[in-house]
Amino acid sequence: MVMGDLVREVDVAVIGGGPGGYSAAFRAAELGLETVVVDATQRLGGACLWEGCIPSKALLHVAAVMHDAERVREVGIEYGPPKISIEPLRAWKDDRVVTRLARGLAGVALRRGVEVIGGRAVFEGSRALRVEGEAPQKIHFKHAIIATGSAPDHLPGIEWGPRVMDSTMALELPDVPARLLVVGGGYIGLELGTVYATLGSAVTLVELTDGLLPGVDRDLVQPLARRIDGLFTAVRLGAQVVALRATADRVEVEIEGSGVEPFDRVLVAVGRRAQSAGLGLETTRVQVDERGVIAIDDRCRTSDPSIYAVGDVTGEPMLAHRAMRQGRVAAEVIAGHASAFDNVAVPAVVFTDPEIAWCGLTERDARQTNRPVKVARFLWAASGRAATLGRSDGLTKLIADPDTGRVLGAGVVGPGAGELIAEAALAVETAALAEDLAATIHAHPTLSESVMEAAQSLLLDLRPATPTGA
Ligand code: FAD
Ligand code: NAD
Repeated sequence: MVMGDLVREVDVAVIGGGPGGYSAAFRAAELGLETVVVDATQRLGGACLWEGCIPSKALLHVAAVMHDAERVREVGIEYGPPKISIEPLRAWKDDRVVTRLARGLAGVALRRGVEVIGGRAVFEGSRALRVEGEAPQKIHFKHAIIATGSAPDHLPGIEWGPRVMDSTMALELPDVPARLLVVGGGYIGLELGTVYATLGSAVTLVELTDGLLPGVDRDLVQPLARRIDGLFTAVRLGAQVVALRATADRVEVEIEGSGVEPFDRVLVAVGRRAQSAGLGLETTRVQVDERGVIAIDDRCRTSDPSIYAVGDVTGEPMLAHRAMRQGRVAAEVIAGHASAFDNVAVPAVVFTDPEIAWCGLTERDARQTNRPVKVARFLWAASGRAATLGRSDGLTKLIADPDTGRVLGAGVVGPGAGELIAEAALAVETAALAEDLAATIHAHPTLSESVMEAAQSLLLDLRPATPTGA
């Protein structure tokens, strides 16, 4: 028998070991199903652990510490200019953060009896997979879960290269370029632009639309836009790259509305594309749209009864926590549970400084769908905790149904917004009323009081004041 003849029979074959894939596999194994994960890299973690959420947040933490060290000058404490050594910084990110977490995931897989097979998986019909790579083999499955994630979108006509980076290369921190062009004012452009600008690059950002983070409520974006204006060298909104020519030592870039400018490196972050090409889906009944997105229902079922799909490959929002929840749902549905991805709130967090976070209905969505809502904003200028942090520029808002007071959405901008949004997500998910949040005791002085304060103003707005002495 040659290696390629090896056939494994399993209950569940998961393709892709990112947050969607490993969450699905761990849950399936927990529910007693024999499960394998096939990943091209033979390791768990996916884009999130190796080239996304985790390394970017490690670097953003360092940027935040540097920013704080600079800010304490205002109160009379001076550290002097930072001396940056890239090698230890890179080693800390890779060895102490990413590798440590990867070991943890590998340990969980071992304990749950989930085998991780290295190689590229290609479907050969609705019940079989071929694994290509060093140890080619066939897998016959009762169910498969596709969790192959996404990859960076290209700028039309522009090739990647040593000086034209995607986010993966930028996170490797090849150096701190003197002049960095960031194309795209979304999550990655703002997060990684912040890292590089704090480490010392002169960052120019080009964004196609007329504002940063298109789609996010403007009152949340404003405080970040002010910070970015001060931190970056230039922000060009409503513009795009017309031509780009990389030479051995720099990149000449023509930006719409301005002439040709030289940069040392360019980071392209104009969105991500579902990764479904080359999977052999034409041998199955799985349906894929023109952007490669796999169509699923609320149980993560594709149009092929034995194949499920979760995570970025199923489209927006391309966020790790959505992938993880979908992964659990897919495994539970396969195991016969009445599970569904019926979540109302998928929180989103941009980990800049200030952070921006939102969940549920946004004001923009409400306007676009003509849905009547009541909105209450609590400005952090009135927060004791924000004052002690020297960060009174934040804002917490709640969006509620005007008749029932049910909390439909929330938005926060300020340091720690990513943590604060959890309470709002719980409120939206559990159909809490503004009254519930207003009456819950929040510890003082904390930023979480801003949620309670916003709920209290919502109540004033929702109810006529009770007449006294009547
Ligand atoms: P992925 O994590 O992309 O994993 C897919 C896996 O499938 C990969 O390991 C790949 O090797 C494997 N694979 C693909 N094709 C095959 C095949 N044919 N055979 C075998 N294996 C295959 N999200 C957040 O929620 N918070 C953040 O802070 C955040 N920060 C980010 C920062 C950056 C720079 C980037 C790029 C993304 C960030 N994201 C963040 C998004 C997050 O990384 C993704 O939403 C998440 O990783 C999606 O998980 P997934 O399981 O769908 O796929
Ligand atoms: P994005 O969709 O967040 O932002 C892309 C930006 O590029 C948009 O503002 C868009 O208008 C702009 N753009 C598009 N074409 C352009 C062009 N030709 N010239 C200039 N600007 C152009 O995408 P991203 O920043 O690449 O991130 C990809 C995805 O990864 C995100 O949507 C998100 O799902 C995920 N992510 C999440 C986090 C997080 O949760 N904190 C962090 C990073 C990435």
